[in-house]
Amino acid sequence: MKPKLVVSGAAGRMGRRIVALAAQSGDFELAGAVDVAGHPDLGKDAALLAGAESMGVVLSSEHPKAADVMIDFSLPAATDTAVEYCIKNNVALVLGTTGLSDEQNAMLDAAAKKIPLIQASNYSVGMNVLFGLVGKVAVMLGGDYDIEITEAHHRFKKDSPSGTALSLAEKIAEETGRDFPGCLVHGREGKDALRTEGTIGMHAIRAGDITGEHSVVYGTLGETVTISHSAHNRDNFVRGALRAAKWLTGKEPGRYSMNDVLGL
Ligand code: NAD
Repeated sequence: MKPKLVVSGAAGRMGRRIVALAAQSGDFELAGAVDVAGHPDLGKDAALLAGAESMGVVLSSEHPKAADVMIDFSLPAATDTAVEYCIKNNVALVLGTTGLSDEQNAMLDAAAKKIPLIQASNYSVGMNVLFGLVGKVAVMLGGDYDIEITEAHHRFKKDSPSGTALSLAEKIAEETGRDFPGCLVHGREGKDALRTEGTIGMHAIRAGDITGEHSVVYGTLGETVTISHSAHNRDNFVRGALRAAKWLTGKEPGRYSMNDVLGL
C-alpha cells in the first residue's frame, strides 16, 4: 500500500515541487494538498497546478480526514495547526518550515511522544553530510581558526539567517564546546566591531533567485579552509523530504533526523 501523503503549503514554491515529484515517483497516494484559507488557487487541481498529471486532489484549506504522512513546507504560523492535525489523526510529520520559535521547538519535542516526526532545516543529502563534517573539521583545525558562516538565498526568503546556517553553527558549537546560540555574532558593523575569540560570525545575503549557498570559513594567520554547499534547485530538498516521508511512515513515535533516514 502506498503511503497516503498530505502536502501542507502545497501552492508554495516547495509545495508544488513536492506534489510534482511525489506524483512522478509513483510512491505515494496524494491524500490532500493544503494551503492557507483565501489562497487564490484553492479548488484547483493540485498536481496540475504543480505541472504534473492530475492525482484527483484539489488544493484546499481543509486537511484530509485520513493520511499516513504530512510534508509541511509553509510558514511557522501554520506549524501549530499542522502538528495538532497530525497528532489528532495519527499522521507522521516531515516538517521543513524554517524560522520556528523556541516554543514551537518544545512543542515538537512533546508531539514526538505521540507521532513520528522529522524536523530538518535542510533535507538535502549533501548538506546532511556537511552537518556531520563541520564540527569535526573545527576540532581538527583547533582553536586558532576563526569560524564564519555565510549564506545566500533568494530575495523572497523571510527568515534570516537561514535555518541551515544555524544548524551548521550549532553542530560546530556542539563539537567545540561553544555556547549556542551565545557564540553567534550576526553581521558586523561599527567602529568597534573587532572579532572576539570563540565567536561564530553569521552573514546573510539576499539577492535575486539564489536557491541556497552556504559556506563555513575557517581562517587562521596564513591560510583559510572553506567548506561550501550549493543547491542548484529546490528538487534536492524535495527528494530528501520525500525520502524522509517514505522512511517515516509507520515508524514508532519519536523525533527522528535525516541521519536516521540516510543511515549516516
Ligand atoms: P512559499 O512562500 O513559496 O510557500 C509557502 C506556502 O505556504 C504558500 O503557498 C503559503 O500560502 C502557504 N501557507 C501559508 N500559511 C499556510 C497555512 N496556514 N497552511 C498551509 N499553507 C500555508 O515558501 P517556500 O519557498 O516554498 O518555503 C516554505 C518554507 O520551507 C520556508 O520556511 C522555507 O524556509 C522552508 N524551506 C525549507 C527547506 C528545508 O530543506 N528544510 C528547503 C527550502 C525551503
